[in-house]
Amino acid sequence: MRIILIGPPGAGKGTQCQRLVDLLKVPHLSTGEMLRAEVRARTPAGIEADGYMAHGQLVPDPLILGMVGRRLSQPDCREGCLLDGFPRTLHQAEILDDLLERQAMSVDGVIELAVPRDELVRRMLARKRADDDPGIFAKRIVSFELQTAPLLDYYSRQDKLATIDGLGSANEIFDRVRAAIQRFERASRRP
Ligand code: ADP
Repeated sequence: MRIILIGPPGAGKGTQCQRLVDLLKVPHLSTGEMLRAEVRARTPAGIEADGYMAHGQLVPDPLILGMVGRRLSQPDCREGCLLDGFPRTLHQAEILDDLLERQAMSVDGVIELAVPRDELVRRMLARKRADDDPGIFAKRIVSFELQTAPLLDYYSRQDKLATIDGLGSANEIFDRVRAAIQRFERASRRP
């Protein structure tokens, strides 16, 4: 299955993704993790991305699309993948659809992890990452609301969106994620 997990910064995507890859047995493609690895290795892409990430801004599309395109064409992604942090804009979603369509593939379902803003801030203060400075974190939330939230409409119109309450224990939330996956499986079997 090809699943996308969407949620604001601090929604708990990482935790749910770890569990989901075990369930689905597909590779986990996290653009945030891929970019942080490039930054650590000081590759040209990493050096370019670093400034944007440190300021809570989206990294330019050519860099992201090249990186994701190369990863998606690897053999382990043939049977499916879990996309985390991508697509993040309507433009990225359209490019992804084109990319998949050319390989006779499509997105099976999109899971939105919904968490209220005050809870996101509370969680951010409890963890520590380089771009988790409160000012930068607020910018990432705004970027989510302005650039990523329109994607929810895009997938909802295609009848592919499952919105999940992201409050509760990791286990409770994963039960909801699993139920969404079962709905996607049933929908994909429908003629
Ligand atoms: P979060 O969802 O918690 O903000 P991520 O780990 O997904 O964090 O992403 C961290 C940063 O990496 C983002 O703030 C952004 O700068 C960059 N990034 C990740 N994915 C994308 C993408 N699809 N398009 C543009 N920039 C991205």
